[in-house]
Amino acid sequence: MKKFLFSILFLACSFCWLNAQIAENQLVKIAKFKDNKPAAISYTFDDGMKEHYTRVAPELEKRGFRGTFWVNGNTINRNEPVTTDTTRTNWSELKEMAQRGHEISNHGWSHKNLTKLDDAGVMEEIRKNDSIILVRVGIKPVTYCYAGNAKNDRVIRLASAGRVGTRTFQRSIGSKATDESLEKWVAELIEKGEWGVGMTHGISYGYDYFRRPQVLWNHLDYVKSIENKIWVGTFREVSAYVAERESVRLKIIRKKNRLKIIPSHSPDSKLFDEPLTLVVNTEKKTIKSIRQGRVHLKYRQISPAEIIVDLDPGGKQIIIDYAER
Ligand SMILES: [Zn+2]
Repeated sequence: MKKFLFSILFLACSFCWLNAQIAENQLVKIAKFKDNKPAAISYTFDDGMKEHYTRVAPELEKRGFRGTFWVNGNTINRNEPVTTDTTRTNWSELKEMAQRGHEISNHGWSHKNLTKLDDAGVMEEIRKNDSIILVRVGIKPVTYCYAGNAKNDRVIRLASAGRVGTRTFQRSIGSKATDESLEKWVAELIEKGEWGVGMTHGISYGYDYFRRPQVLWNHLDYVKSIENKIWVGTFREVSAYVAERESVRLKIIRKKNRLKIIPSHSPDSKLFDEPLTLVVNTEKKTIKSIRQGRVHLKYRQISPAEIIVDLDPGGKQIIIDYAER
């Protein structure tokens, strides 16, 4: 009888213990955006204007931000001393911007409306610009922006092949923008947990230029001041992150003092190579180390039972070792 009661007690305790444990698939999740920030913004600048080099890039950099600059190869000036259009930038300036971390990408060779071209015409407009950007800037574009935002299913399919994303939505930031309207936009992004894509052309001249460019710099200051809530990334970075977040699957294996996280490989891990932020429930255990393959990963505690850590989604398994207890 005593033995029987003991067994019942043992079973009941095991049951409680199992119940108290968090299910394995609840231990780890991929953060909506990098660093577990609730929203993201990409600042994009169209048409290769000179002021994107002289004013925008330095202002972004001052605040630690990087932008995406969509250019048309046929209007970019050849390098000094040949300047045929003083309102546009030149290739050496674009190359310098790319080297400083900005994304220089494809807006079509000659700003044609792709929906009015046949498939061969669309591909010529895209490929010719890819090639010149690769040759002059040194990086092949992996995103695309439709000239005049003119698009349909056919051109989106053609332009998306081999890319992490194309610009299919945007928020105009230009002549009509005010400090208040931009603050409201940011508040909505945070509230809804969304990715906003700003679209800007002229700064003090050109299409849709600002009557007071200070509006843009004030906005960047504001976003900087709430940086813990907004990830400012290039269009390439955020596009890749979102696509990977949606496609990567994680297998979780829990052992006594170890948690193994095995990411499924993304469809094209060379193209989609943006690190993903994982939020891990450590069940308040003390971490000894976190590594992916042989690489030790840095992590950050965000609450008593949670850490965040960046991982390569196309990489090896992640092993979290806890201290004995
Ligand atoms: Zn344009």
